[in-house]
Amino acid sequence: MVAAADKMHTRLFFERALRGAAPNLPGATCSSGKYPAGTWFPRGTDRPGREFARNLCLGCPVLRECREWATTSCTIPVGIVAGLTARQRRELRDQQRKAVPA
Ligand code: SF4
Repeated sequence: MVAAADKMHTRLFFERALRGAAPNLPGATCSSGKYPAGTWFPRGTDRPGREFARNLCLGCPVLRECREWATTSCTIPVGIVAGLTARQRRELRDQQRKAVPA
């Protein structure tokens, strides 16, 4: 069951990436092929998995560009992106929206 969920999340990420939802960031750790893409989609209860993915992101050479995207237009509803959980990404987007003067 876990493997099936991982596959689904991985497929979702790459489908969105292929459709242009994710930026093409040369040098990105998550697309290096060194780690299974499922690494960035740990289960909700998998705290060590989340920390592992987060640390990979924090060492990623394109973290800054990825974070800009993750906190503005990323629509991936699950997983770790730019070292952030989906909830953190949503909160940062909301904060930025509120900070923009009307
Ligand atoms: S910061 Fe993380 S999610 Fe973003 S490109 Fe790098 S490894 Fe991928």
